[in-house]
This record gives sequence, C-alpha cells and structure tokens, in this order.
Amino acid sequence: MNNYEYILSNISILKGVGKSLVSKFKRKNIHTIFDLILSTPSRYIDRSIETKVENLHIGKIQTITILVEKYNFPRIRKLPNKVICSDNTGKLDCVFFNSYEGYIKKILPLNQLVTISGKVTFFRGKYQITNPTHISTDKNKIKKIHSAYSLTDGISDKIFNKVIDEALKKLPKLNEWLSANVLKELDYISWNDAIKNLHKPNEISDEKKYLNRLIFDEILSTFIINSNIRRNFKKKYKLPKEIKLNITSLVEKKIGFKLTNDQIKAVNQINHDIASKERMFRLLQGDVGSGKTIVSLIAAYNNILNKYQVAYMAPTEILAKQHYELFLKVFGNTFNSKILTGKTENKERKNILLKLKNKKIDIIFGTHSLFQKTIEFKKLGLIIIDEQHKFGVNQRKKLSEKGGYNCDVLVMSATPIPRTMMMTLYGDMDITLIKSKPKNRKNINTYTKDIDKINDVTNFIKKEITNNNQIFWVCPLIEESKILDHQSSVARYKYLKQIFKNKIGLIHGDINKNERDLILNDFLNNKIKILVSTTIIEVGIDFPNATCIVIEDSNKFGLSQLHQLRGRVGRGEKQSTCILLYKKSLSENAKKRLKILKSSNDGFFIAEEDLKLRGYGDLLGFQQSGQKTFRLADPIINKDLFLLAEKEIKTIENENIDLSKYNSLIKLYDRANIINELI
Ligand code: ADP
Ligand code: MG
Repeated sequence: MNNYEYILSNISILKGVGKSLVSKFKRKNIHTIFDLILSTPSRYIDRSIETKVENLHIGKIQTITILVEKYNFPRIRKLPNKVICSDNTGKLDCVFFNSYEGYIKKILPLNQLVTISGKVTFFRGKYQITNPTHISTDKNKIKKIHSAYSLTDGISDKIFNKVIDEALKKLPKLNEWLSANVLKELDYISWNDAIKNLHKPNEISDEKKYLNRLIFDEILSTFIINSNIRRNFKKKYKLPKEIKLNITSLVEKKIGFKLTNDQIKAVNQINHDIASKERMFRLLQGDVGSGKTIVSLIAAYNNILNKYQVAYMAPTEILAKQHYELFLKVFGNTFNSKILTGKTENKERKNILLKLKNKKIDIIFGTHSLFQKTIEFKKLGLIIIDEQHKFGVNQRKKLSEKGGYNCDVLVMSATPIPRTMMMTLYGDMDITLIKSKPKNRKNINTYTKDIDKINDVTNFIKKEITNNNQIFWVCPLIEESKILDHQSSVARYKYLKQIFKNKIGLIHGDINKNERDLILNDFLNNKIKILVSTTIIEVGIDFPNATCIVIEDSNKFGLSQLHQLRGRVGRGEKQSTCILLYKKSLSENAKKRLKILKSSNDGFFIAEEDLKLRGYGDLLGFQQSGQKTFRLADPIINKDLFLLAEKEIKTIENENIDLSKYNSLIKLYDRANIINELI
C-alpha cells in the first residue's frame, strides 16, 4: 500500500469503527481517514498548566495539586459529600454528588498530594470543584491538553478522540514535498508534525503554526492542479495566427462609442495570445456592464480572418441572440454567421451542422448545445464562452480538450472576486481584467426602503414610465420552497397589475421556457414596462431602456448577487436607480451589507467586503455546489499563504520543477480527481 493509500482509505478500516459510526461520520462529511484527520479540533481544553488556590479563576477549567485534609460525609442523603483540600495558599473543596464514600476515599486518599482538574466554582466563600473528572496521584496523567471536536449526533467527544487516536497510530510518514524556501516560511513544520500536533498538542501556543502548514498544502495543491491543466493545455504548440489589421476604429464607428482603455488593453492581450504559438486559455473578467462582449467579438473577427471557425457559447438563447445581433451590426454579412439554439428547426439545424462540417459557417452562436458530440467543426480556431461562472475547473478542462491543438479559448465572467479567490478558481488560465467602466456610465443611485412605503416606490415607477423607461421588479428565490417562491412573485405581480394594468409581465420558474422568452422579448421590445420576476433572468442581457430595478427582501440576497442584479440597469447613458426593499427589523449585519452596496458600485470591492462579512463559502449567493473549495483555507484570512503559494507555483513553473515529488500531496487533496497522472 502506498503511503497515501492508507490515508485515503475509508474510516471503516479503523479499529472500533463499525457501520453505524461510519454513517454518523458521513453526516459530518467525513468518509476517509484523510477527511477525519483534517477535521482539526474546534478547541482545546488545557489541563497542562498548574495553578495555586490563590490564583484560581472561577468558571474556568483549572489544574491544581492539593493535599487531601479531611472528609466531610454528611449523614443526610441529599447533601453532597465533600473533601476538604488545600495547598500552601488556600483551601479548596472537592464536592461529590452521588458518589460512594469508598470510591472517594480511594481516589482522594487522606494526607496525600493529588492533582485534580475541573471547573472551578465559588460557593459560600470557598473555592470548589464539583464532581472532578480528572484526579490522579500521578501529575503526568492529568497535565494534558484535551482536544475537543465539533461533534454531531451520536459521536461523543470520547469516541471522536478514540477514532482519531486509532487513525494516528498507523499514520505513515510522508516524504516532504515542500521546497526549503517555503518550509522556512512555515517554521519547518512537516505535514505529519502538523497533523500530530493539531490533534495531540504538547502545548497550545503553536496550533496556528501547524494549521498554517496544512492550509498551505491545501492551497498549493489547488494551484498545482491548476498549473498542470495549464501546462497540458499549452504543451503542444499551435500554428500562430496573424493579426492582420487593427480594427478598433472600424468597430468604434459601427457601435458609436470609443473603447475604454481597459477594453483596448484586453484586445491587445488577446491579440498577443492569438498570434502566439501557445494556445490562448484566457479569462476575461470584468464587472457587469464593463463591455466584454465587443472585446470578444474582435477576437472572433481576428480568428475568422485567419480562416478559422469560431464557436460562441452563451448561457441562454436570448443572450446568444444578442451577441449574434451585435456581431451582425458590427461586421455585417462579410462573414457567414449563424445561431443555433434549442428552438432552431430540425431542417435548419441539419443544414447548420453540415455547413459547420464543411466550413461554410465562420462563426456560430448558441448555448451549451454547441458542444454536443454531434456537432463537428472543420477548423475550429476559437471557443468563446460567456458568463461561465457556472463552470468549474473540471468542465473547463474537458472543454479545452475539445477544440484540438489550434483552438484558442476565451472565457468571460462578470463575477468579481478577490484576487486570492481568482487564483484559486481560475489559476489554470491567464487573466485579463476590465476594471474601468465606459465613460458615459453614471453611478446607479441605490436606496434602501421599508416595504411599508411601497407607495413611494410605485409613484416613482409611474414617473419612470412617463419618461419611457422600464423597470425590473425582483422577488427572492426561496430555495426550500418553490411554491412559496412563486407565490411571492405572483402576489407582487397581482398587486402591481392593479396599478399598472397591461404594462406589466411576470416570469418565474414554473412558466415554461418558450413563454418566458416571449415575455422577455416583450420587455426587450418595450411592449411591457415592468417585469416582475424571480432571479431566474440571467445576468448579461442588455436592456438598454431599463433604468430602475426594485429588489424585494433584498437582505436575503448575497451582496455580489445584488450587485449583479443591479447591473441589469445603468448600462446606457441614462441615470438609473436601484431600490432595495426590506421588511422591518433588519439585523445589524444586514444593515451593514446593504450599506456597502449603497456606498459602492465597484464589484470587486463589494465582493471582498461580502466575503469578510459572510465567509467565502457562499460567494455567489447561489450556493450552487454546496461544497466549499477549501476545508481549512480562507481566501481572506489566509491571504499571505495564498501569496506565498502563488510565488511558489511561479517558481515551479519557471524552473520546470518535476511535479512527481508532489504526488502524495495531489493524491490526497485532489478531491474532484482532476489529475490522474502527474507525469
Ligand atoms: P458585459 O461586460 O457585462 O458583458 P456588455 O458587453 O454587455 O457588458 O456591455 C454593456 C453595455 O455597454 C452594452 O450596451 C454595450 O453596448 C455598452 N458598451 C460597451 N463598451 C462600451 C464603451 N466603450 N463605451 C460605451 N458603451 C459601451
Ligand atoms: Mg456580458
């Protein structure tokens, strides 16, 4: 058995761990020995430090060595038995309820020095320890640190400790994988030492040090996996493509605005990738409305000029259509472009598939259906994926293998996240950031309002409609209860319909897709003025005429999510408004969060603040995966370790360090089994 194989075994191989215990641990997401030993204690009870009676702290667990002076065993049944003890600084009573005299005399023999440990109380002018659990004439048996774990039904502290003991007994010594440089930064603590000292510490001043070692391993393993995907992606060179002419000014003429500096920078970086012999694997990251689409279309254009095909994938049909139309607007009919969606009729679909195969189509727009097996490209040169935050690294890896060696990949995301998180989630890619917004953008005025004042809001909306503007009204999606979710949006729709009559539409999850698209189109074409919906409408669609978004029960959303929702308006030159409704009694935390949103329009800042307040587990507010990326590491708290790991991965890449020495590390941490072989 390899060293790591034992660690990756199911806990059922441990002595004393039967079926029922296995299923109890499962509830805590502990399956393997690795899961178990990475569940570090939630706290420690330190019985190692001895004190004197005069220094006792009431309410704390304390350890003390005392002389047993006298028994006080009252004849009245209800009264507790007492043993009067002392050291040279004062007196302390040991109090026993329901204990036999014989037993007490045995554990606390008269005139002997005994070490005891327990919670100290103060009663009628005297220190007491009631029913002490730790008593011994041998100090060393008491003076230990006890590890307490976060428990679950049916697993007691005692059992947890016992299972940990069993697991640690046979824990193999793993060869060090970290470099000397990094080890120095981590106080030369090995993985084994870290595990041992976290579960069985000799003293508890150092746990942070040990924890840091494990956290670092977790981060580095993620980075190595990312780096490996990147290396594999770039291993075989492509035929470089030529950037024939700079089309920025042409594009600007067609769309009627100047590209921002960040957009131009992005175009240049992408051009560089296209012209390079290494394949492009790039993330274009920019806040909602920062103008990523046009940048991606320029990349498409350059690929087509090089006689390659382009596949442009959007998350929804409507979005695919918008991109397609923008492409037509800018590049007209100079190229063969098509759109393929679930709605495309069978005959047309067959026709498109044939044309793709024969390279009669230069660029195809569509949804994820573009990557079905039945679709063959003759000469695919670029895959563009819009709003890909629903994709994990695993899916990206599969996708990157799809196009063949001459195919570049450009993905876009509007989910601003802190840099440490970015390194984790997108470390397999090169990253281009678009930070600045188009100049003509106005900040979105953001207000919070009590739902009781809904009349103010409807009055405001009336004015907006008079000015020929449109309004979104968003109701929260309640995960646990779909019915309730619809009810909230349906009820609001009915309420608003009385006021706004036929100017209003409704979309929620139970309305079928075709009908949904019809309503959405009515809204896009300005036939209806107000669109009530749950969060079902994706980010990214351009609603040039929408200037107001009302978000109900806004405190139930994540900040980043609110920011993205807000990004549906304010995409044009008009002044836009976001109204965050809440029901009375907002918690302090909720107030703080809404305040952040009011004070800033910067998605990156908001994401970072959101992480600080909520922890990183639910970054998007969607709780899609339900699983955190890390067990121990936290991109905010452990920023330094992320930066250290980033430095290390660069060294590994630059010096082409043999990855096989990281084999155990990867085997242990690669939960999604992304990498099968390192070499
Ligand atoms: P996102 O980055 O969210 O995908 P889009 O590409 O959809 O953003 O652009 C949002 C809106 O901004 C669109 O209406 C687009 O036409 C407009 N836009 C893009 N770039 C600029 C620019 N440089 N100046 C003015 N408006 C722009
Ligand atoms: Mg977009």
